[in-house]
Amino acid sequence: MEHLASRREAFATLSGAKSSVNAVITEMAYLYAQRVSLPASHPTYSSYHSGLRNSQASSILVTLDTCTRLGGESALSVVLQRVLALKMNPEYINNTLVPLLPGICGLARREGKSVTSEPFASGIRIIMNNWVEVVLGPKPNEAAGQPLLVKLQKFTCTEPNCVRVRKFLTTVNAENSMTLARIGAPARKHIERELQVHACSAATFETVRTTPQGLTVRWFCANYGFVSGSHTEAVL
Ligand SMILES: [Zn+2]
Repeated sequence: MEHLASRREAFATLSGAKSSVNAVITEMAYLYAQRVSLPASHPTYSSYHSGLRNSQASSILVTLDTCTRLGGESALSVVLQRVLALKMNPEYINNTLVPLLPGICGLARREGKSVTSEPFASGIRIIMNNWVEVVLGPKPNEAAGQPLLVKLQKFTCTEPNCVRVRKFLTTVNAENSMTLARIGAPARKHIERELQVHACSAATFETVRTTPQGLTVRWFCANYGFVSGSHTEAVL
């Protein structure tokens, strides 16, 4: 399929019909998306080794990338649906699906699409919903460590700048940073304190050295606060 795609100009010259070559490639990508083998979601002994977990997310990402490049969003959508139709368990969500999030954001960017357009938006939403429902569960889940969303629930300051920061951290954004311009040092320090207490695993922040000062908050798209960095390195 890759060979055909890389030679599409030559084939087109031979056959005199570039559009039909493209149609064949798109069709093949669609079939590939339906049949390519994907990692199982159930935990196996070897999946406890983080190396394999990394490689599961990476191999899915390569498949998503190939399908998008050759088959467009319809092929991407098929693979995403297959990946997300598997039986969900915390291991699969934390170690395979969550590390896909930055990759899905990256694919959308590369295709010049917003992460709020389909099928990117559904993919991201389903992963996040499953994380909240299955990993967090109805009760606090010790195994999930210090989940970001639980910590953020205690970030309740109603001052407008804090409300903006909280909204930024709890929404899927195309941007991974926001700046509160010229809010002044006392407000900056206040927000930094709130972030240190309630969102230290989710965001970093940096003073903007203007007068009055501002604050830039960065969201770890890749880290979210609920996967350790090592799980996501392979994807980044
Ligand atoms: Zn506040």
